[in-house]
Amino acid sequence: MGLLTEGTALSWEETKKQADHVRKHGIQQFLYQYHKLKDLCNECLYWGDEVEYMLVKLDRANKQCRLVLKAQQVLKKLQKREQEFPNDHPSTWRPEYAEYMVEGTPGKPYGGLMAHFNLVEANMKLRREEIQNCLGANEVPLSLTVFPRIGAGIFTEPALKPTPQKGYSQSLFFPDGAINQGHPRFHTLTRNIRERRGKKVAIQIPVFKDENTQSPFVEDLSQYGDDGTSQNAALPDHVYLDCMGFGMGASCLQVTFQACNINEGRELYDQLAPLCPILLALSAASPVYRGYLTDIDNRWTVIAQSVDDRTDEERGLKPLKENRFRINKSRYDSISSYLSPQGRCYNDIPLTYDKEIFEELKKGGVDDLLSRHVAHLFIRDPISLFSEKIQQNDEEDTDHFENIQSTNWQTMRFKPPPPNSTIGWRVEFRPMEVQLSDFENAAYVTFIVLLTRVILSYRLNFIIPISKVDENMKTAFKPDAALSGKFYFKKDVFTESTPPEATECCETMMCCSKKKCEKIDDEYTLMTIDEIFHGKADFPGLIPLIKQYISNIECDVDTQCTVLQYLNLISKRASGELNTTARWIRNFVTAHPDYKKDSVVSETICFDLMEKCEKISKNEIEVPELIIPHTTKTVDNIPDAIRTLYKNLEKKKGQTANGH
Ligand code: GLU
Ligand code: MG
Repeated sequence: MGLLTEGTALSWEETKKQADHVRKHGIQQFLYQYHKLKDLCNECLYWGDEVEYMLVKLDRANKQCRLVLKAQQVLKKLQKREQEFPNDHPSTWRPEYAEYMVEGTPGKPYGGLMAHFNLVEANMKLRREEIQNCLGANEVPLSLTVFPRIGAGIFTEPALKPTPQKGYSQSLFFPDGAINQGHPRFHTLTRNIRERRGKKVAIQIPVFKDENTQSPFVEDLSQYGDDGTSQNAALPDHVYLDCMGFGMGASCLQVTFQACNINEGRELYDQLAPLCPILLALSAASPVYRGYLTDIDNRWTVIAQSVDDRTDEERGLKPLKENRFRINKSRYDSISSYLSPQGRCYNDIPLTYDKEIFEELKKGGVDDLLSRHVAHLFIRDPISLFSEKIQQNDEEDTDHFENIQSTNWQTMRFKPPPPNSTIGWRVEFRPMEVQLSDFENAAYVTFIVLLTRVILSYRLNFIIPISKVDENMKTAFKPDAALSGKFYFKKDVFTESTPPEATECCETMMCCSKKKCEKIDDEYTLMTIDEIFHGKADFPGLIPLIKQYISNIECDVDTQCTVLQYLNLISKRASGELNTTARWIRNFVTAHPDYKKDSVVSETICFDLMEKCEKISKNEIEVPELIIPHTTKTVDNIPDAIRTLYKNLEKKKGQTANGH
């Protein structure tokens, strides 16, 4: 989830005093690295996936299911191999926000060979086995986006009670003991976000209104120890959640790409940004929160609200007095500007950025677009800081830059190379929800990686006004958006570059002339996900484009079979022939004999659902409405030749391109 610095965490008051210092030195650190590394070229496009897992205990006798709080113990074992063999470990393990979560990535990045698509699923399977080996009886790792009864009564093992009047979260529902216990960063973020905002976060999720759902849906929060503040904050007809854990305690599937150089990185950042809402909708996997069926299908808005540390002034509820900016998004949200020259004229939302920092960067030789991007990230305060790390050497350290960068949790992240490494400029694709099985996760990862290949090889252009990407995000949250949502999408993806007449208006980075905006408005149209993936009229469709690409490059038969299976899954999800995980969960809940049509997901329903998820993740059952019949790639059925290829590549390049 970001930078892990060892040391003594400062209080919010102390951190606040250092905010300008952190920003000032963060910018100096960025400038130093930028000039050192801006001309860096790498051989090929490396990439890697990140999967966040939950540790789940199934009490089969009592039909109860709990999140197991033992990440520290599990991580200690998982990280042993990496510590003993820093250059030879199949997986890399990192802590995540919750004490019931761990995050795993492949030990080495994948590289330019098609054959690497054969390794993704096998590596994921291996990771799952590695966690399983660290767990006790009836405990399983689940790649589950949101635990359906998170915050509903006792949901952890050991059983912990929340402490509404004290501690880091002060939540009515989520105990501090469920936050990662190994590193102070996670507690500190939780407390400082609450204190910076001036009150608890208030996450409002529209409830799914079924026949017997209480209407209006209003909960008596005094039963949880509320002193009235939460009751005031909670909106009727919404499921109310009140701390960071509800968001950052959710899991996702991310993919990091290393670009050949900084410009290719910026191009990829821009081209993938419009795909974020689309892939969020297609991977949607989380319709249940705190034991209630809701009217959203995925986690995005929940996390955005869960780390929203903006004050009332910044949110526009009070005139600006103490704060410097009105800010229209949370720290966790979709990106607000494009970074490449091609994207320049599509930056049509007013970007809040720190003018002084912008000037400083420009004076330091950084171009307008990148300066504005960084000056936008730097409108935020550092939200956790460690006393030992305040004084830094700006030519060697990057902690202050990373402090701000890594607490801007946006749909895409543009990542400068870490100092003193062989890693290049990278972009991280962050919106996807994690799927239950390794097969599905491998399919989503393969799809997005192949799409980057197609984008770069065919010079495709998906860029539409950034305001439309924001609108698409809102569409993507809705139930069954993958089936019935209509998304703004580029009509002609073969336009190679921005129309020359549009470039004149770019002084301000915004489309300032109505006429030019109208031209841009002709470039996109509303499409369903089915149309985006399979094409319509003169739009080719993403899947046919990828298939064409595969048929034009050298690819062994075995890899081709694997990749086609993955594309088949994605294609069937996009056409609606298969359910999204979110739809499948909705159907499971509403068809359960215990379900009373009141939106309540009881302990028994939750247990049965989790038991089913366990079987899906272990490949023990077929679920034809969710997953196609397929052969699972395991380490054993990867042909030797492919493993050798991978090994040789590993030898050549010793370091990981993954971000964590
Ligand atoms: N778990 C977060 C999510 O679901 C991401 C945390 C991270 O940045 O690693 O989006
Ligand atoms: Mg993570």
